[in-house]
Amino acid sequence: MSLHGTYDDDNIFAKILRSEIPCVKVYEDDVALAFMDLFPQSEGHTLVIPKQTRSRNFLELPEDYIAPFMQRVQKIAAGVEKALTPDGLVITQFNGAPAGQTVFHLHFHIIPRWEGQSMKGHGASGQADPGELEGVAEKIRAALS
Ligand code: 5GP
Repeated sequence: MSLHGTYDDDNIFAKILRSEIPCVKVYEDDVALAFMDLFPQSEGHTLVIPKQTRSRNFLELPEDYIAPFMQRVQKIAAGVEKALTPDGLVITQFNGAPAGQTVFHLHFHIIPRWEGQSMKGHGASGQADPGELEGVAEKIRAALS
């Protein structure tokens, strides 16, 4: 799918938002939902998605949604940092398939990094054990509460 197109209501994150498929949730309010990436590039890889928009990418996010949504991205990143004490955090997102986007509902990746530990490539990691994800999510939820 290109950078421009029509929002697909059946994309995987739209289904997560409608609770049609499960996710390991770490945070939710009226603006954003944050949950563990099922194919984590490192321990604690968390995704933050806007709830009230059908934005496929950052360019489509309504202007008045940018500040409240980015506040949530920062809040979740602070929670991940507090919970897991990484040495660094990658905060990133991809716009359009040629840029690496695979799910076409806007999302930010929060990926903890530790000194001397390599990060798995984007789209190159295996599926995580849901029990392990739940354990990490519990720490992040506690840090955010
Ligand atoms: P993108 O490639 O669009 O930047 O990121 C999509 C992300 O969604 C990837 O990091 C991928 O691992 C993750 N992902 C794909 N399918 C699922 C799923 O069913 N559940 C969760 N929690 N993450 C998913």
